[in-house]
Amino acid sequence: MSTHVGWPAPGALILTAALVHLGSPAHAGAPSDALAQTGRFSPDHPESAYHFADEVFGVIADAAAVGPGVIDGFTFGRSLEGRELRAFAVRDPAFPVFRRLLLIANIHALEWIPTEDALAFLLEYAAHPVPGVELVVVPIVNPDGRARVEADLRAGRNLYRRGNSAYVDLNRDWFVHRDSPAIWKALLPGLYTTSASPTSQPETVAIDQLLCPDADARSRARAQTYGSDGRPLPAVYGLAVGAECYPGSGEYGIVPFSAFLSLHSFGGFIYYPWAGRWRRPDVVEGDWRRYQAVAEAMQAAMGAHAYRPRQLARWGFFFRGLGMEIDHAYGQYGIPSLLVETTRSGLERPADLATYFRWYNPRTPDRHVRADVDMLWAWVTAVGEVWPTGGQ
Ligand SMILES: [Zn+2]
Repeated sequence: MSTHVGWPAPGALILTAALVHLGSPAHAGAPSDALAQTGRFSPDHPESAYHFADEVFGVIADAAAVGPGVIDGFTFGRSLEGRELRAFAVRDPAFPVFRRLLLIANIHALEWIPTEDALAFLLEYAAHPVPGVELVVVPIVNPDGRARVEADLRAGRNLYRRGNSAYVDLNRDWFVHRDSPAIWKALLPGLYTTSASPTSQPETVAIDQLLCPDADARSRARAQTYGSDGRPLPAVYGLAVGAECYPGSGEYGIVPFSAFLSLHSFGGFIYYPWAGRWRRPDVVEGDWRRYQAVAEAMQAAMGAHAYRPRQLARWGFFFRGLGMEIDHAYGQYGIPSLLVETTRSGLERPADLATYFRWYNPRTPDRHVRADVDMLWAWVTAVGEVWPTGGQ
């Protein structure tokens, strides 16, 4: 009605935040205390509907203690400040693993509901693992950035944080499609930024090595020039390299990843590659339809307010996501890869726009987490049906 005087419509609020969110340059994680402190957090546990990092790992440790061989935690690297990068492999120990899926969350410091999703899904998957399908979960890709947000919450500070401790945006720190032929780049340069060089940070190096442990295979993938002139990738190139990433795989070896999913917030989209090119995902002929089928199955599992499937580069006609993790995992290694922007923001009232944590994380995450976990179950099922032999 007429009560919205002085405020844009909710959709405009979200669009404003989304443009800042998507378009933040690689160094936009640098603290900015331009906005007032909110002062409404309790000092012991602000945002008590969310787990702090120690609590995330405590909950998983408790679950892992229940039975042997279901949840195996391991450290796959260290952050720039030396924090452990932790992953958890979840499977039914009674069956040999023939498929592995990688789920990562919280690459952006303020995006906490993805960690809640990853944690909840890990626990459910541990209770009901699909025989032969191993789920590897990285609940916190960016522990340094997250630690800063935790400190901010405890201190009642309201700072915009996105990157790691060097303020590098880990979501723009990958090899594939680092530049763009789009003419819009000249008009909106802030939307076309990347880090200074690919895998410039220990966090992205560690994820890259998790995707492809074999150094020679990684080198071969990088020797290929991607996207600098807008040409398509060579057909099945990524698949060939992906199979070489685990040279010891086989009957007793570790199986290569056959699907990858990076959880972000916010936006309400199930994105597939390419992020950095308008053209459809084409490592293998027909992948566009396969991606669409998987994303639609995930959408269907969510019920009301389901997220919408879309190619990431087609978020807006002017937008390209350069050097992003899904183009990397798919383009370098042929791994079918998705990026989900969970929730449609945590903004419930105009004043929320002044609190950065609220942009990304609803006050009451439970119903969002439930829907997201349902979506993730559909991902596990659908990638197995659509890519039955994995990325191989
Ligand atoms: Zn994000």
